[in-house]
Amino acid sequence: MNIFEADKKYIAGTYKRFPVDIVSGKGSILKDSAGKEYIDMGCGIGVTSFGIADEQWRRAVIEQTGKVQHTSNLYYTEPCVRLAEMLCERTGMKKVFFSNSGAEANECAIKAARKYAAEKHGPDCYTVVTLNNSFHGRTLTTLAATGQEHYHELYRPLTPGFESIDAGDLEGLKKLAGSVKIAAVRIECVQGEGGVVPVSRGFVSGLREWCTENDVIMIVDEVQTGNGRSGALYAYMTYGIVPDVVSTAKGLAGGLPLGATLLGDKVQDVFGFGDHGSTFGGSPVCYAAAISVLSRIDNPLLAAVRQKAGYMREQFTGAPGITGVTGLGLLMGLSTVRPAAEIVGELIGDGVLCLTAKDKVRLMPALNIPPEVLETAVGRIKAACAGT
Ligand code: PLP
Repeated sequence: MNIFEADKKYIAGTYKRFPVDIVSGKGSILKDSAGKEYIDMGCGIGVTSFGIADEQWRRAVIEQTGKVQHTSNLYYTEPCVRLAEMLCERTGMKKVFFSNSGAEANECAIKAARKYAAEKHGPDCYTVVTLNNSFHGRTLTTLAATGQEHYHELYRPLTPGFESIDAGDLEGLKKLAGSVKIAAVRIECVQGEGGVVPVSRGFVSGLREWCTENDVIMIVDEVQTGNGRSGALYAYMTYGIVPDVVSTAKGLAGGLPLGATLLGDKVQDVFGFGDHGSTFGGSPVCYAAAISVLSRIDNPLLAAVRQKAGYMREQFTGAPGITGVTGLGLLMGLSTVRPAAEIVGELIGDGVLCLTAKDKVRLMPALNIPPEVLETAVGRIKAACAGT
């Protein structure tokens, strides 16, 4: 049985994979078993922040695997504490809970907000408000938080206590607050899975003000937008606000599973012993990888991310077959005349791996993609969008 057949036989059928088997790679170039090369414009859905088998990242991972790979959370380890310290110092958040994925980071954020609200405002204060068109994960609770009905259909009943409003609808939120007690509001600054749709600055600052006035926890989901992808360390930083809780994962450890929930002033002490936990909660190897990733996301790197994003935007805006460009930094969405899925499928043949997000072509190259590689990819994407 070849791997396509074996995959069909043995892997649960949740993923519609492209017919590509990746065997190796370096930086922004991936290789399949026939030796064909692909430019990676998706980074495993925004995970491999510094590309494939990056030397600095590998050194950090290999060094830590030679020391200790897992201890459980019953003991102290240096990489765990140093990573938390780094995250807090760079964000102003106060404490961190580590997990293994974006969904878990979001679950933890909900637990923190609900516990805070119950203690402060009573047990009937538990409603979490999210935005229509959002995406927050696949667990039953983060699905309840996800404001897209089609994800809910097969799995009812979902966790109760979730409501959604349209992005921008501050009045709708205020009206809702008249009928339920709101514990938290959660947003993505750019709705990634929702089609790379940025949320407006006015709405985000209005939301921040309203949450402060009403002692409602403001959670920003930085799973997709975080860790340098937006051109800032976290996308909320470009909106000039400070959330109460930030959740992140994906690119944090550059290719190893790690989620982090950053707890700000208000909720920093909400959890006590036994209130939450995880056997893995990342691992020293994931923490070492994340320290290596975060230590490279400095001002020059972020300026280069913004410059590359500017170059892409300029190239794609008004190009034949492209009707719109959205996003922030190196999270970019292209509205296209031809169906996005068709374009992304064709680009595989042209040696470029891209993503879709709803009806858009979604691009998330490595933060350090070399300019000449980016230029080649952009040329091929433009040609595919134009249908030439
Ligand atoms: N939140 C956002 C904004 C995401 O984009 C995703 C995944 O795409 C998640 C949460 C879920 O992350 P994970 O798949 O790591 O659980």
